[in-house]
Amino acid sequence: MKKNIAILGSTGSIGTQALQVIENHPDLFRLQIITAGSNAELLIRQAIQFRPGHVVIADEQKYYQVSESLSKYDISVHAGQDAIEHIVENDSIDLVLTAMVGFSGLKPTLSAIRSGKNIALANKETLVVAGNLIKQLSSAYKIKIYPVDSEHSAIFQCIVGEELNPIEKIYLTASGGPFRGRTKEFLKRVTSKEALKHPNWFMGNKITIDSATLMNKGLEVIEAKWLFNLHPDQIDVIVHPQSIIHSIVQFEDGSMKAQMGLPDMKLPIQYALGFPERIKSDFPRFRFTDYPNLTFEAPDLKNFRNLALAYNTLEKGGNSPCILNAANEIAVDAFLTGQIGFLDISDIIEKALDTGYFIEKPDYDDLIQTDMETRKIAAQLVAGYNQ
Ligand code: NDP
Ligand code: MG
Repeated sequence: MKKNIAILGSTGSIGTQALQVIENHPDLFRLQIITAGSNAELLIRQAIQFRPGHVVIADEQKYYQVSESLSKYDISVHAGQDAIEHIVENDSIDLVLTAMVGFSGLKPTLSAIRSGKNIALANKETLVVAGNLIKQLSSAYKIKIYPVDSEHSAIFQCIVGEELNPIEKIYLTASGGPFRGRTKEFLKRVTSKEALKHPNWFMGNKITIDSATLMNKGLEVIEAKWLFNLHPDQIDVIVHPQSIIHSIVQFEDGSMKAQMGLPDMKLPIQYALGFPERIKSDFPRFRFTDYPNLTFEAPDLKNFRNLALAYNTLEKGGNSPCILNAANEIAVDAFLTGQIGFLDISDIIEKALDTGYFIEKPDYDDLIQTDMETRKIAAQLVAGYNQ
């Protein structure tokens, strides 16, 4: 039986790598739905190659271009953010890969869960913003969430077969990004071009900046709490610049299990799509002699404050991770467009967390409201830097 897959964000870094996995295994997977933000050209090419039943372009102005180009194929074309939310309810799908970026993935993810679809989750921001709600809904609708993020896939792979053995602690590994070891003086002056050069991974712009500021690791700490049901003091971060060990689980007898391999997102993507099967692959293999030194060091929380801010919101709970995420999305965008400096990102997030209205047990509407309010606060803070 083939698994029927929907990919939300098929034109992005995760989306295109997921399509390579599907292309290599036509016997195992059938692509039913693909969606994009505004990259109509690539979406059209993907649709012609894979012939899914449906494609969605979020940017409604691109609807005509996509539907004209696909008119001679048996493919339904839809447009708009709401269409993404509705299409995931389609009966033809078994598994939804959420590979959109940021808060935009929240509504479609909730809608997919409510329609009983299993989720391969790349879009970590959704768990950061609404972890509690997603956990409640996934147990109410009896769906499974398979992590795609490489660190969480590593933890997931380490605990298969250990269901009765509690986790004592996990170590999420971090590459440290392009500015590891740099001083505040240096960081003050870095440009977005420099920040976009990640040493080990080629990813979308937003997550690449998050990796440079260590916010990515902060978001992953929060993601791990929800995926594996952990307390903040059970989640540690260790910098491992070679990105060979993807993360580690420590059990109550002191034994540690790590998952390792060359950094290649196709592996965790394939594991999430194929679970519980390990699908044979020809991905390049790790050779010990190429890496005589695997090294580890503590993260620098003084110069890279975002990780500390994320830990604070995890302790505080409520809607504070939602504030953290929204302020970060605005600040990263402002950094990418040259409106603020690298270190201003943390300042804006911290001020937004101080200003934002705290809600201890937010419901869905509270989260939507918090996201909206925080974006306004963060945008005002950004404007302050441009005067
Ligand atoms: P990209 O920016 O490369 O891709 C994002 C995808 O989402 C694109 O298909 C984009 O469409 C679409 N999209 C963006 N905004 C919207 C919107 N408002 N409405 C509808 N679709 C939208 O991101 P990545 O692939 O790098 O990351 C995706 C997610 O996976 C993120 O949450 C990231 O944190 C996570 N992740 C990524 C990893 C990686 O290696 N890249 C590793 C681990 C996690 P378009 O192309 O048209 O703009
Ligand atoms: Mg990761």
